[in-house]
Amino acid sequence: MLFGAIEAGGTKFVCGIGDETGTIIERVQFETKSPDETMPKVIDFFKDKNIAAIGLGCFGPIDVNKESETYGSITSTPKLKWQNYPILDELRKHFNIPMGFDTDVNGAALGESMYGAAAGLDNVLYITIGTGIGAGALVEGKLVHGMLHPEMGHINVRRHPEDSFKGTCPFHNDCLEGLAAGPAIEQRYNKKGQELTDSKEVWDLEAYYIAQALVNYILILSPQKIIIGGGVSKQAYMMEQVRKNVTEMLNGYIKTTELKTINEYIINPGLKDDAGLCGAIALAVKAL
Ligand code: ADP
Ligand code: ZN
Repeated sequence: MLFGAIEAGGTKFVCGIGDETGTIIERVQFETKSPDETMPKVIDFFKDKNIAAIGLGCFGPIDVNKESETYGSITSTPKLKWQNYPILDELRKHFNIPMGFDTDVNGAALGESMYGAAAGLDNVLYITIGTGIGAGALVEGKLVHGMLHPEMGHINVRRHPEDSFKGTCPFHNDCLEGLAAGPAIEQRYNKKGQELTDSKEVWDLEAYYIAQALVNYILILSPQKIIIGGGVSKQAYMMEQVRKNVTEMLNGYIKTTELKTINEYIINPGLKDDAGLCGAIALAVKAL
């Protein structure tokens, strides 16, 4: 059986066809322009593909409340052309099949739990550190939504005493995303993260912030596995420092087998760069 997958991101849309084992058979990608420019390409790709369901993992904030009149819309995104855009309705106009709709990070958490590094686990946290920071959570086998969906990238963190960078978040300035997403690194050092690989101090500071967030997520949600994706997560030294700082901050308070083997507890996606797309397949499989 074939499933359609859409990883709708702020910079690009990735569309794919996969099967119920999470294997991607075909894929294309389009730059995220206006809905009028991007959506026809998405719809064309899935025409005549004989898919049983579609999964859409979407940048947000989005309305995932099935009781709401605006269910399936992108809501208050800073990408103005996509504000209040009913993306799920647009797909429904063209495809009369079940559709799964969730945040990109909830999708990735589900995908990792079905096909990736958290296979078989019911409590999984997936965080992406890229253009923004966002996290999704599977708790007791269910993706967490609540009144909207978690926005774990915008939590408060304790500022490093030597960090005077103002922060990039248009809503909060120095929330986690404002201090530690890719654009914050770029503005603080006038260089992109990928050009700063050899600058340890950059990644020590980054790990200082990311570890604080993970400690909060651990204390609140008690995940069995934490998966860090997104461009910034490719920095292996930062990942090591995050594990070290998390261990130090918890200071032996929580004793679990997971935390004893922290190298296997805080990891990169098992699905590598396909975490988002496989997550969308997982959303489609669940919808069916
Ligand atoms: P997006 O979040 O737009 O889907 P990415 O996850 O690739 O895409 O995030 C892009 C951000 O991550 C940019 O700010 C970029 O500078 C940063 N980035 C990408 N690759 C790396 C890397 N290898 N090391 C550090 N930062 C990176
Ligand atoms: Zn914020």
